[in-house]
Amino acid sequence: MTGREAIQKRTMVEVKGVAVGGDDFVVIAGPCAVESRDQILSTADAVRRSGACILRGGAFKPRTSPYSFQGLGEEGLKLIAEAGEKSGLPVITEVTSPELVDLVCRYADILQVGARNMQNYALLEAVGKVRKPVMLKRGMMSTIEELLLAAEYILSSGNTGVILCERGIRSFEKATRYTLDISAVPVIKKQSGLPVIVDPSHGTGHRDYVASLALAAAAAGADGIMVEVHPSPDNAMSDGIQSLSFADFAALMDRLRPVVSAVGRRIAPAGSR
Ligand code: PEP
Ligand code: MN
Repeated sequence: MTGREAIQKRTMVEVKGVAVGGDDFVVIAGPCAVESRDQILSTADAVRRSGACILRGGAFKPRTSPYSFQGLGEEGLKLIAEAGEKSGLPVITEVTSPELVDLVCRYADILQVGARNMQNYALLEAVGKVRKPVMLKRGMMSTIEELLLAAEYILSSGNTGVILCERGIRSFEKATRYTLDISAVPVIKKQSGLPVIVDPSHGTGHRDYVASLALAAAAAGADGIMVEVHPSPDNAMSDGIQSLSFADFAALMDRLRPVVSAVGRRIAPAGSR
């Protein structure tokens, strides 16, 4: 389902007036984690003003250490839903277990399956049974073939709204947190019709490199990017080192526009409020 028939036609995933995988280049932005009402509302407003069309923010955070901030849970879902409503942006947030799918569906427009859960087959089947789009992130130790087979679990369970996300894989290189596999974009495009989003924030792990890789993603033919943005990156409760300030994000968008137009696309506009 990810392959053969899909190659004939591109799959477009529509959410509240935003088409992912169509002609427009989609920019998803927001904090790594929802931390407070003020934080998510101000970020939604700032990223919308700079040209994002989807708001991100985690409420259930799968952290490497059990002692790190785990997210606000349902309270975080309520806050991001409110920010989405006020800004007019559809929202994406992560679901970390099959038991949480119904709860997350009540608040989110797009469900995110994180890198650590790419091969959680019970979760893939659970999100395959709902009628909300799913963004599936590539596992940091997974091949492109394994990513496409994981997507197949969601598609074959009945959900056709699958978006893939390249977020970097583990390599011997230590200068960046992961190695963003830009070549995954054309490879996936050749093998499947599913939309591909690139996450240069987790892919590099450092804010200094996020803009360059965002431009590379657009040039390579990605359907969009997902970028972490925080009102005060140095005080973020998670992933502050890779998060952009509002000003950094606005500057990234200014650099992105000419690259997107050079590849014959435009930045997807936000829906009406
Ligand atoms: C995220 O996008 O919030 C996240 C946790 O990313 P990943 O699953 O790619 O590590
Ligand atoms: Mn993060």
